[in-house]
Amino acid sequence: MKSTMQDAPLLISDILRYGQQVHGDSTVITIEPGGYRSATFSEVAARAEQLAKALRRLGLADGDRVGTFCWNNQGHLEAYLAIPSMGAVLHTLNIRLPAEQLAYVINHAEDRFIIVDASVIPLLAAIKDDLKTVETIIVAGEGDTSALGETLSYEKLLAAEEPGLEWPVLDERSAAAMCYTSGTTGNPKGVVYSHRSTWLHTLAEQSASSVGMTEKDRILIIVPMFHANAWGTPYGAWMAGTDMIMPQMFLMGEQLAAIFNEHHPTLACGVPTIWNGLLALDSPVDFSSVRHITAGGAAVPQVLIEAFEKRFGVTIIQGWGMTETSPLAAFGLPPARRIEGHDEMYYKIKAGRVVGGVEVRVVSPEGDVLPNDGKSAGEFEIRGPWVTGSYYKDEDPSRFHDGWLCTGDVGTLDHQGYMTISDRTKDVIKSGGEWISSVELENAVMAHPDVFEAAVIAVPDAKWSERPLVCVVPKPGRTPTAEELVEFLAGRVPRWWLPDQWAFIAEVPKTSVGKFDKKRMRAEYAEGDYAVQGVALPK
Ligand code: ADP
Repeated sequence: MKSTMQDAPLLISDILRYGQQVHGDSTVITIEPGGYRSATFSEVAARAEQLAKALRRLGLADGDRVGTFCWNNQGHLEAYLAIPSMGAVLHTLNIRLPAEQLAYVINHAEDRFIIVDASVIPLLAAIKDDLKTVETIIVAGEGDTSALGETLSYEKLLAAEEPGLEWPVLDERSAAAMCYTSGTTGNPKGVVYSHRSTWLHTLAEQSASSVGMTEKDRILIIVPMFHANAWGTPYGAWMAGTDMIMPQMFLMGEQLAAIFNEHHPTLACGVPTIWNGLLALDSPVDFSSVRHITAGGAAVPQVLIEAFEKRFGVTIIQGWGMTETSPLAAFGLPPARRIEGHDEMYYKIKAGRVVGGVEVRVVSPEGDVLPNDGKSAGEFEIRGPWVTGSYYKDEDPSRFHDGWLCTGDVGTLDHQGYMTISDRTKDVIKSGGEWISSVELENAVMAHPDVFEAAVIAVPDAKWSERPLVCVVPKPGRTPTAEELVEFLAGRVPRWWLPDQWAFIAEVPKTSVGKFDKKRMRAEYAEGDYAVQGVALPK
């Protein structure tokens, strides 16, 4: 029997139109040197219409890819709205990707147009000669464009068009946007989102069981719009009428504190490194307006969550997801019904609770589905309408089977849907046939008051096959010793996890999106770059 419901396609133009009509007075603030620029949703929507008309006039056809090489700013939001709504495909390009990978993803996606922020022209110019399909480069903002050859001005293009546009009715399953994984293993792989997947993900993002943006909120979007759609916040905020604060550059420390002090966001989202940086500041940060902060993309150390609560009175909620999952897949609000004996922190340090709409399971190395008992550890697999079913132009099926995506994350799932991530499969430390969780070990070391950051990698060991090497960045002016840290860990982690190899380093290398870069650390270790200290473990 068929339903009686209307078969309306789920299109990004609906999201655009809704925010334009219902939340026209909400604002988008872009931080600029020495000030900021503000525009209402009505103004942004009108400019999105002008952008679409200009791109159409330049010959952009349905399905054509437009790369955006931009910071988090109003222009990037206009591209987010206009490009998919007109039937083309928004391809967000990671500003921090190494040059050869950047050229690879542009060529692989066959981008026809690129919109580039003037401030990053030199980065694009460096690979210009390697680009095989790009016909038109549009520059947003003022700057010397000569290194790019012939370019068009974003503002001039918009100025030549009148606002007002009837958006086309598209197939909801057609491509709306694409994003490549940041390539921590091998070449980046492309994920292509549909209108439908983005629409459903936007609803999940807006749900009160997840980020829960409302019209009363002002969200500070620190996570880059080139990385996993800024966790879906631009579309979520647009639909909810949430004011958006776009920091433009990826600001840390003092500059970020200034944004909190001046613009009073109620929500903010970014990777743990960003929040750790704020914690290191001596100057005051005004968090009085903040409802909660979302952190994810990497494990959030307990000590960070505790310090934010104690020092600033701010709750950090952890989210889990991947480029492949749009990305929101789990969100860590503590449950109403806690397991007896467990406080809220028990839940906050987990990666999150699986959000409604996607399904997660844990699978053993032998392929058996394990119980959701919070104890049985294996690889997470996920499926759902905003989870990718393959990679773009990639025949390798190894991460997909029976409709599930193998996430490459290892951990446990409990009966209330909370995920605990102990590692990525490629970072797991296998010692004497047993797993040591690098994430848990890092958390335990970072709880020491003299430690700023700690990253743990597996290093080869003749007897145990692998052992953990702990790389520690001390807090400024502190000089913890390896012996002290081992003593601190004793009793906090299983005895056989106690690391006997330590290195004190100036900085943990980070990926293009600010996560610990363990691939690089393993290479640096192999090159002999770390002064490793051996420590005798307590008997
Ligand atoms: P990349 O693989 O390049 O880092 P993604 O941004 O898609 O690209 O990263 C997804 C991965 O980030 C997940 O598979 C997981 O390993 C990690 N991750 C995301 N959120 C969390 C979290 N809350 N705790 C631990 N790891 C996380």
